[in-house]
Amino acid sequence: MLTANTSHLQSDYDVLVIGGGPAGMGAAIAARVAGADRVLIVDREVEPGGILLQCIHPGFGLQHFKEELTGPEYAQRVYEQVVETEIDVITDSYVIDIARSTGFTSFTKNSSTPASRSPEKLCVKLLSAQHGVKLITTTATVLAMGARERTRGAIRTPGTRPAGVMTAGLAQRFVNLMGILPGKRAVILGSGDIGLIMARRLTLEGVEVAGVFEIMPHANGLNRNIVQCLQDYDIPLHLSTTVAEIHGHDRVEKVTVAPVDGFTPDPSRGWDIECDTLLLSIGLIPDNELSRTLGLRIDPVTSGPIVDSQMETSMAGVFACGNVVHIHDLVDFVSQEAMLAGHSAGQYAIGQTRPADNIRLVPGDNVAYCVPQSIASDREHTVYLRVRQPLENCRLRLSSSSGGVVYEKKIRFVLPAEMVNLKLKPRFLQDFHGDTLKIEVIPNHAPD
Ligand SMILES: Cc1cc2nc3c(=O)[nH]c(=O)nc-3n(C[C@H](O)[C@H](O)[C@H](O)COP(=O)(O)OP(=O)(O)OC[C@H]3O[C@@H](n4cnc5c(N)ncnc54)[C@H](O)[C@@H]3O)c2cc1C
Repeated sequence: MLTANTSHLQSDYDVLVIGGGPAGMGAAIAARVAGADRVLIVDREVEPGGILLQCIHPGFGLQHFKEELTGPEYAQRVYEQVVETEIDVITDSYVIDIARSTGFTSFTKNSSTPASRSPEKLCVKLLSAQHGVKLITTTATVLAMGARERTRGAIRTPGTRPAGVMTAGLAQRFVNLMGILPGKRAVILGSGDIGLIMARRLTLEGVEVAGVFEIMPHANGLNRNIVQCLQDYDIPLHLSTTVAEIHGHDRVEKVTVAPVDGFTPDPSRGWDIECDTLLLSIGLIPDNELSRTLGLRIDPVTSGPIVDSQMETSMAGVFACGNVVHIHDLVDFVSQEAMLAGHSAGQYAIGQTRPADNIRLVPGDNVAYCVPQSIASDREHTVYLRVRQPLENCRLRLSSSSGGVVYEKKIRFVLPAEMVNLKLKPRFLQDFHGDTLKIEVIPNHAPD
């Protein structure tokens, strides 16, 4: 158990981090290293670590720690650094409100007023098992609240509403943290990584997994998980197929699955599968209630705050990193992004200013989104992006508003499930300050 250090809770901090997952812990460490004296992490769970604590499979840390760790091992490694750098940690404490001053009453929720750049401190209201309701002010804030899973309501699957329908992450928590099996025979809807990992986990625990059903013509999880979690255990993956109906009175009794025409199931080709459990692995949504409360600008594709090259949001002094910004498939990239956000927050807290970004980035052909959404022409950057469609033998191209090619590289294949990261050096960017650059991933034979 990673125990929290709450003995030093103060009423004012240089940097306050909301969320104690790998993003929050990484950002807090970087903020301390950057010179912030008083740094606090707040997490609603009883121990820090975030989603990693329930991911007991290996596959974490190959890049960041150069060795393969399980989720709890990765969390432990980062937490040890949190302790070494003397960061205050308070758990079992939910941040329920956030505003630009202590006057929460003057603050309108879901305000449509655009966020402005203001040097004012923020005030955070938290509900804590140990400290009760507490107001804490902070010079800089890092949002690291992670993501939550899409539920049945998001896809409106027809049928009855029996017990036994749950998200794959909840099932993972039942099995890995609470020692409870969700059922005896399961169907998994959606081929996201959590569903794939749970297909293997349930099989290892003696639950029969009848199959994974994916509405898209391609899988939505990492290729290594398709191989290691499905193929190695002979679990079938049905692409372009969905659960068309759920049956059962008190408990799930069966589901009807059917191939889709576009996104519409074709009942004439459907079949029934007896099962007592239906796991949903249909995507994660960045958890941005607090970002909306603050009136931050949100990217409609990522559902996370729009950030600049320092991971600063549209409000000065508010930074964000990890799954709250966009969904990451590897924790190593979360840690990388967190170090940048934390460093920037630490510098902001000690009054170190930096020039604003001068290049805007926009997604073009076959690019769903890119993060950050702006960069500076005089610095090196890592830009994360996801494609809309799988493509083989393609090239990633960055072009200026006049259509000139700024940067281009060949890629063997891209998949929507695998984040692409692009390292950009200042030598490519120096002539484009003030410009808007378009990023696209196009077939190799596309015209120049
Ligand atoms: C099932 C699964 C399997 C994965 N497998 C791998 C893998 O094999 N390899 C790999 O590299 N990556 C893997 N990942 C991805 C990686 O684990 C995540 O990208 C990473 O953990 C996200 O970190 P985070 O800190 O952004 O979010 P989280 O870990 O979700 O942490 C967010 C924290 O914020 C807290 N919080 C939220 N709101 C509040 C609030 N209002 N007040 C206080 N606290 C709050 C939450 O309690 C939580 O602790 C996996 C992810 C999942 C879900």
